[in-house]
Amino acid sequence: MQQKQYISGLIDFLWASPTAFHAVSSATELLTQNGFTRLYEEQAWNQLPGGKYFVTRNDSSLIAFTWPAAKGSPSLQMVGAHTDSPCLKVKPNPVQENQNYLQLGVEVYGGALLAPWFDRELSLAGRVCWHDSDNTLKSSLIDFKRPIGIIPSLAIHLDREANKKREINKQTDLVPILGLTDEAHDGFLKILQEQVCIEHPNLANPDITDHELFFYDANPPVLTGLAGEFITGSRLDNLLSCFAAVQALLAPDAAENCLIILNDHEEVGSVSASGAQGPFLRDILERLLPETDNRQATLRNSLLISADNAHAVHPNFAAKHDPQHLPQMNHGPVIKLNANQRYATNARTAGRFRMLCSNAGVPVQDFVMRNDMACGSTIGPLTAAEIGVDTVDVGIPSLAMHSTRETAACKDCWHLYQVLQTFFSRN
Ligand SMILES: [Zn+2]
Repeated sequence: MQQKQYISGLIDFLWASPTAFHAVSSATELLTQNGFTRLYEEQAWNQLPGGKYFVTRNDSSLIAFTWPAAKGSPSLQMVGAHTDSPCLKVKPNPVQENQNYLQLGVEVYGGALLAPWFDRELSLAGRVCWHDSDNTLKSSLIDFKRPIGIIPSLAIHLDREANKKREINKQTDLVPILGLTDEAHDGFLKILQEQVCIEHPNLANPDITDHELFFYDANPPVLTGLAGEFITGSRLDNLLSCFAAVQALLAPDAAENCLIILNDHEEVGSVSASGAQGPFLRDILERLLPETDNRQATLRNSLLISADNAHAVHPNFAAKHDPQHLPQMNHGPVIKLNANQRYATNARTAGRFRMLCSNAGVPVQDFVMRNDMACGSTIGPLTAAEIGVDTVDVGIPSLAMHSTRETAACKDCWHLYQVLQTFFSRN
């Protein structure tokens, strides 16, 4: 695969994945097309024959792996990333009518940068649960795929201080407008019903019971910059890493004993049945390697590369970085370190990743947060703490993390794929 083809596939993946549910669905589609078999947690997996498999949990987290025919596994090569991003989630009873406007109440999911949500065409996607005519509970993914809402800014004439100090009240200032009440609109549940019927054309009037819906930027990801060197779009954190992990696993020379885990709920602390501080990976490893002694030995020989975006130095705010650690765009993936274990990297795991980069012909950089600023974290330390695996935290340098419109550089995306592909390679 060439860089251009990879980036074009990445843009398609981003655009098809407006929510964690859709990211798992996009990954599932790629894995299925490439000969991976779906396993179900609800069924027994006795004596899994060698092959390529994946399993999902809550439709929003995924584990995929290549499994050897021979018993025993000397080591696992593992890559982790997360499927969720900060955004606006629709409340359970969202419909409001104010001043002739039809609005939908939202909660803020995760540590979103809120200002970029204003004056942006918004679409809506997520999961809807419904009762079938035979009264069984089903769920479907829906995606409006067109602009249906907007959160207009207050005009500067009504807020002269807007460019100096602007506070955003999450309850009152962020309610998207979906239309005018004097226009004819179907009720919200009726509109959801229609979306479900697009997915299931033979279905008549499904009884919608619940929903998990998220607003997203209706503008697709694009290449930006005089030479098209940047990619800008929503959810680059952390779908860039999810896509690289999936593609590395699909590479023709991928070895046996490779595993990827894509977790939901990283942006809200990872404590959930499908999050990195939950039992998903441990549960799957216990089924694959039921003998404790064998499993523990395998894990001690294994490495997890936890891939999540890093902060590139911003030319207008360079002082926000430690002057000795200034990740540059297109200068390769970043190894993230933190003395207080906000990242799981240690000298040994960093050394192993550096060697992989060298073997892949990819440059590599280091990041440490300034001492006078709080350091972020990611799935690496949580997964390491859950299963005791040696872990390195890395990521592509990016700008405007947690905005609805983030920026990364194309060559870095390609570099991350190359190093993960080398990690999974048979040779
Ligand atoms: Zn992230």
